[in-house]
Amino acid sequence: MRFTSTAGISPPADLATALLRGLAPDGGLYIPQFIQPLRAADLEALREAELHRTALTVGRTLFASSLDEDTLESVIRDALTFAIPLRELEQGLFVLELFHGPTGAFKDVGARFMARLMAAYRSAADPPLMVLTATSGDTGGAVAHAFTGLTDTQVVILFPAGQVSAIQRRQFTTLGGAVRAIAVEGTFDDCQRLAKQGLASETLRRAYTLTSANSINVGRLLPQVFSYFHGWAQLPEATDRLVVSVPSGNFGNLAAGLMAKRLGLPVHRFVAATNINDVVPEYLRCGTFRVRPSQPTISSAMDVGAPSNFERILALYHGRHAEIARDIRGSVHTDDDTRAAISRVHRRFRYVLDPHSAVGFLGIDTDPVPNNARTCVFLATAHPGKFAEIVEPLIGEPVPLPHRLAVVLEREERIEELAPSLPALERLLLRG
Ligand SMILES: *Cc1c(COP(=O)(O)O)cnc(C)c1O
Repeated sequence: MRFTSTAGISPPADLATALLRGLAPDGGLYIPQFIQPLRAADLEALREAELHRTALTVGRTLFASSLDEDTLESVIRDALTFAIPLRELEQGLFVLELFHGPTGAFKDVGARFMARLMAAYRSAADPPLMVLTATSGDTGGAVAHAFTGLTDTQVVILFPAGQVSAIQRRQFTTLGGAVRAIAVEGTFDDCQRLAKQGLASETLRRAYTLTSANSINVGRLLPQVFSYFHGWAQLPEATDRLVVSVPSGNFGNLAAGLMAKRLGLPVHRFVAATNINDVVPEYLRCGTFRVRPSQPTISSAMDVGAPSNFERILALYHGRHAEIARDIRGSVHTDDDTRAAISRVHRRFRYVLDPHSAVGFLGIDTDPVPNNARTCVFLATAHPGKFAEIVEPLIGEPVPLPHRLAVVLEREERIEELAPSLPALERLLLRG
């Protein structure tokens, strides 16, 4: 399998190159050159198969010759160490829980897979790997966790000082060892700009193999395809009216869902569920893609005003708006709606949603087609305990935090501080 750039100028790259580069030289994002659908018999064999088997079957097709079977299998086994269960809330309404990883966010799936894949491709002769990533919340923890313990690898997390919730921050400031948490005196945009400049810095490149690990990396995107198949495999019966609602920000998760459909997953329609940062739903409605500054909401991991993965969706459909709008329905929700949904779902089903997952639920709940005419799945992307200060007042009871998330509250934080300039970043990183 080779990977082409969405910008269409750079030549196709092999998996190792796409993985380490992140962004193609022409500024585009890598996507698989072609997607060969699974054979019907292979798809049928996945029903009720366990996660690793499903991932292996899908991965084999998706990565084809670019990854040998043994490496693929060991990467899957080491990366996907947690369950991705599908729960039924009522007849025909299901939630796929993607938050059972070490940091309680769906980003664990992609980040862990990518980290192990990068390790598999490295040789001892390469300079040490430095993963340089900006975060406004969940990405930092998932990426830092994913890379800890891998040899010859440093992780640098840039975050806006004072603008990340305590539990999110603690996911990457308490790991120590090869993870450096750097509080930048500035906004998330400053962090992102610095990360970009750092990745291009010749000074840093002399000392390290540099890579970013943000959601534009194919290594994070591809494993998310497995989750969709695994969710489908757990449905109690086959259906040709499956609707899947994806709470979206940068649209990596939805892009992966559309790739799953290309691979033959029988999804009738996806819902692009967003908070008021509704660039994509607007595109679906009127065909114009208008990026704008993001607005803060309670589903903060989805506060994205220029969703970068949308390029991949456009490329998958050769930019054909009518076809995109046939496969995806947009659905936009305010914070008030989101809060009301958290209360309502708790009252009705005794089920606790975090604000992001609640947007996913609303993507189903607001569809004019009645539930009994379809099978609906929405994705739950974060553990509600991470957003206790929002969720608890709405449901009137405490949300227990799983042990793996609670431990970071006790550990000591280590944070370095940085002015938002490239020379300052270079000095800090080379000082070690
Ligand atoms: C990142 C994130 C999302 C959005 O996923 P995209 O792939 O960026 O669309 C949704 N929910 C949570 C909890 C996230 O961390």
